[in-house]
Amino acid sequence: MATYDKVRAKKSLGQHFLHDEGIARKITEGLLLDKTGNQVLEIGPGMGVLTKYLVEITNLQLKVIEIDRDSVAYLKRHFALLDGKIIEGDFLKEDLDSVFSGTFSIIGNFPYNISSQIFFRVLEQRNRVEQVVCMLQKEVADRIASRHGNKTYGILSVLLQTFYNIENLFKVPPGVFTPPPKVMSAVIRLVRNDRKQLGCDEKLFVTVVKTGFNQRRKTLRNALKNLTLSSDVAALPVMDKRAEQLSVEDFIQLTQVIEKSRAVQHGV
Ligand code: SAH
Repeated sequence: MATYDKVRAKKSLGQHFLHDEGIARKITEGLLLDKTGNQVLEIGPGMGVLTKYLVEITNLQLKVIEIDRDSVAYLKRHFALLDGKIIEGDFLKEDLDSVFSGTFSIIGNFPYNISSQIFFRVLEQRNRVEQVVCMLQKEVADRIASRHGNKTYGILSVLLQTFYNIENLFKVPPGVFTPPPKVMSAVIRLVRNDRKQLGCDEKLFVTVVKTGFNQRRKTLRNALKNLTLSSDVAALPVMDKRAEQLSVEDFIQLTQVIEKSRAVQHGV
């Protein structure tokens, strides 16, 4: 590859290009191929360091989405195999129905500045996104995979763990990127679990989780005050706990109780 036509990294797009081929290959090997349904979307291919391994996998229907025009031009120059498979666009806004029909997996060395937003989009699309293998800042990876009882356990941990099994795969130091980010990175894998229904209103579930963590130092009794809970619910022992002490199951159960008590209040 000639160096003169390389893409100059743009900070605003979270561009840190990986230059360690061993790590690039290892990330792509993180994909569980039986979970891909053959369709894979790479977010932010940049100059294609992961893409070049993905295009070699047989039976894989790959598409890539890249927001940066210079990177798209680079990919077009260097990857004839990607002809017709490059979407120049924003993953957060793209109509994913027009990308793939049916289920697919996501892979990428994510732009770190929008990694949380990417996961909220994945949650929205969870019945289509079977698996995510991605690199992101280690701190966010730790939060996502964190279990209840830990300080790092938060909104994204609960919401993602509700629908995905999450594994830490490996850590990656800053020196393997150009330019090097200021933080450690990590590669994680999320695989859709079997949960289809929550047994409670999902909007209320999300509200309970978000409200509980918004004032994470307070007991749930205080943190959830604005949800105007009935006195029966407010008196429950679980209300003495803080949000970070509740497992996914606990949050689901709590939401079910709140929902029931509201139905009673409203005479439903
Ligand atoms: N995969 C490459 C590049 C990683 S840097 C590598 O490992 O070297 C993150 C990439 O995501 C950049 O190429 C950046 O242009 C792209 N990107 C940033 N925001 C994006 C968005 N909203 N949608 C799609 N791609 C995006």
